[in-house]
Amino acid sequence: MTQTNLKSDVLSKDEQYVWHSMKPYNPQATYVVERSDGARIMDTDGVEYIDAMAGLWCVNVGYGRKELADAAHEQMMKNAYAPLSQGHLPAVELAEKLNELLGGDYVIFFSNSGSEANETAFKIARQYHQQKGQSSRYKIVSRYRAYHGNSFGALAATGQAERKYKYEPLSPGFIHVAPPDQYREHESDAIAPLDLASVKAVDKTMTWELSDTIAAMILEPIITGGGVIMPPENYLKGIEEVCKRHGALLIVDEVICGFGRTGKPFGFMNYGVKPDIITMAKGITSAYLPLSATAVKREIYEVFKGSDAYSYFRHVNTFGGSPVACAVALKNIEILEQEALFERSKEIGAATLQTLQQQLQHHPNVGDVRGKGLLIGIELVADKVSKEPLPVEKVNAVIAKCKEQGVIIGKNGATVAGFNNVLTLSPPLNIVQEDLDRILDVVVDSVNKL
Ligand code: PLP
Repeated sequence: MTQTNLKSDVLSKDEQYVWHSMKPYNPQATYVVERSDGARIMDTDGVEYIDAMAGLWCVNVGYGRKELADAAHEQMMKNAYAPLSQGHLPAVELAEKLNELLGGDYVIFFSNSGSEANETAFKIARQYHQQKGQSSRYKIVSRYRAYHGNSFGALAATGQAERKYKYEPLSPGFIHVAPPDQYREHESDAIAPLDLASVKAVDKTMTWELSDTIAAMILEPIITGGGVIMPPENYLKGIEEVCKRHGALLIVDEVICGFGRTGKPFGFMNYGVKPDIITMAKGITSAYLPLSATAVKREIYEVFKGSDAYSYFRHVNTFGGSPVACAVALKNIEILEQEALFERSKEIGAATLQTLQQQLQHHPNVGDVRGKGLLIGIELVADKVSKEPLPVEKVNAVIAKCKEQGVIIGKNGATVAGFNNVLTLSPPLNIVQEDLDRILDVVVDSVNKL
């Protein structure tokens, strides 16, 4: 079979048998990956791309890491499986390591995906309040534009209406507030935490909903898939304080921001807060295997030790925290630390952001270039003064131009009503400078062709 036949054969079988997520998304973007190395992926036709999105914001240590394959192999041969209703060594070691990275004092519950980690957090929050004698507290506050997962609770927490359309009604008890938006409604970084309008809005919402009904607030440190939306520096501090005032738990979703994406081990560490619950997935294994975790402050965990028949956490999943996934996560974290990838993300992220700002900020369709670490968003507008979002077809055209030149970039999920206009970059944290330079050239060139 010739190479061309091989490609069309694979693509037609792919079309016939694989139900892709989020299609139609960008019809020109169809390719089938066969192999990958570093930040590069190669399709079944032998065409190579630089993956400026690290998959779905997740392959933090890059592709083709033999150490991770070896860790999985070794653990499979030692012990492939043990349920966490019992125990196994990799889970003990990983939980200890995560607690250290988080700065203590957390107890870790393992699952398989970011959605499940958030579902777990919601269940813990509700049961916690019940067992503290506050059974009226069940509502979870979250933010518009946020994504927290695909299951009924996590999707209910999500603030992107287009993702929910036709699947509703979802789980009740989720309330949304507007996120801060430094591009469209700038709030000075100098404003005190409780004086920020975006924080006051949460405070008022919790009051109007009745504090006694609020179980928790969930938020990403920086909204990622919703458009890389940066908060004012004091926002998280303000939210932490407001949650305390209202007796609500603060859940921070680190599914994308965790494991170095924003230049720190976890995104919340940029903002000086200490969340009650932290959820994480993706970068925990650099996506080499499915794994997620819900880290819970010990004082919350203690409330589950009561003696009545239903006071323990009645929640289980078969695969969550499998020994093999935990072993891979441990090796992945070792790589992140040994190769100083948290620091690298911070440094090269800042340099990349600066270069993009210099080269693109003058462009009539570039409203804002923003980010932290190797998490970068480029907001495209039809008009710089009105800030009207650039139509999605034009945004897709930029993405297609990048792909034509061998660079895969992303955009905020095709699901934020009226605001599908942010290009996203989130490459592996160990991307070599040459590949990063190529991404910059291609992105700038593609935007300039608008
Ligand atoms: N939370 C955030 C911030 C995410 O970006 C995602 C997925 O992209 C999730 C949760 C859900 O994670 P998963 O797709 O692993 O269920």
